[in-house]
Formats: sequence, C-alpha cells, structure tokens
Amino acid sequence: MKARGKHMHNVVLIEDETQIRRFVRTALEAEGCTVVEADCAERGIIETGTRKPDLVVLDLGLPDRDGIEVIREIRAWSGVPILILSARSLEGEKVRALDAGADDYLTKPFGIAELQARVRALLRRIVRAATESPCVDVGDLCVDLVKRMVWRGGVEIHLTPIEYRLLSALVVNMGRVVTHRQLLREVWGPGHADDTHYLRVYMAGLRKKLEIDPNIPRYLRTESGVGYRLVDQ
Ligand code: CA
Repeated sequence: MKARGKHMHNVVLIEDETQIRRFVRTALEAEGCTVVEADCAERGIIETGTRKPDLVVLDLGLPDRDGIEVIREIRAWSGVPILILSARSLEGEKVRALDAGADDYLTKPFGIAELQARVRALLRRIVRAATESPCVDVGDLCVDLVKRMVWRGGVEIHLTPIEYRLLSALVVNMGRVVTHRQLLREVWGPGHADDTHYLRVYMAGLRKKLEIDPNIPRYLRTESGVGYRLVDQ
C-alpha cells in the first residue's frame, strides 16, 4: 500500500554509486519522500513495477543496462515521472533520454536545493492533476488553458495561435524542461521536429510579450542545447 495519507510520496532511486544514492536519499527524505534504492537497472525496473512509485530517479550510467533502454521499458507500461541523473560525460544522452520519455534531468554534480526543486516540480503535477483548475499562475502571468487566454499583471495579452500553443506546451509542463523536438512536434507537428530556428523566432516573440526584460527572462528559460523551461519565480 502507498502511504499517501500525509502526502508521502514513494520514490524508486536507481543509481549504482553508493555516495550519490545516500545524498539523493537524504534530500528526498527531507522532502517527505519514502525512498527505495536499486543499484542496477534490472533491480530498478523490478522495484518500479512492483512498488508503483510516484517518481523514479534514474542514473543514466548504470553497470548492467543503458539508461535510455530503462526509460523505454518503464514507459511501455507506466507514466510515472522520471528524473534522470546524467554525468558530464553523458551530456549528449540527456536529450535522447528526454525524447525517450524522461521528464527532467540533473547534471552531476548537482546541489541539494536544485534536486529538491526538480522533485517538487515533478510531484506537483500529481497534486495538480487531482485539483485540475484550468487557470495556471506563473508569477504575474495567468494562463487559462480552457479559454486560451493569457494575462500579465491582470492585463490581457494577445498571443498569436502559435505563440499560444508554444506557451501552453510549457505551462502543462511547468517547472520541467521540454526538449526542442517535443516543442516542435507539439506546436508545428511531426514534420517539423528539426526546425529549431522556428522555436528561436517564436520564443523571442513570446518573451517580448510576457517578460519584463526579454533579454533576461524570468519565466521562459533557455536550457542550452536541450530546450526550454517555464519557471515560477
Ligand atoms: Ca552511474
């Protein structure tokens, strides 16, 4: 049974390095999570299948199997949020992992606050799905996903249909990185998965309308070489 009563979330942590496991466990327990550890892919997949966790934290560099394969296998039967941990040497794998169905990533070495913020963003989705309001507040922005309207500081902002689709793809993934490929598919369709320049143009337009200083975006953050992230601060 899941200990849901006190908002306890269950996490399966798949990581072969003992020290990192200990660090992540301590950080997650401080967030009120219960953590089950696995030191290899095989064990991790079994724990994920049997314990039905609220979150999987997955190291991409595992001794027995490729982390990307682990993501694909879990995605075949589960929509559980997956946060990947990638070593600097596996930076290139990050985008592949996200496109394979991972939800977000951290690059080692990472700080405890960064890890906890990512975990909170992923777990918030579960809570939000339960309350389901069509309006999402992000700082002084408000997005109504049903009426397809956007306000900044109470003033309605007119977006083009493409700008709106781009923004709403980020809103439904609040706090999480969305890859270039995912955004291009979502907004322009599967035929445009490589047209990254579209994104740059429309993101600049969105920032001009939504950010106080489009050159120092508070909300629409660039994740260099990966994609974009909408953050609330
Ligand atoms: Ca490793």
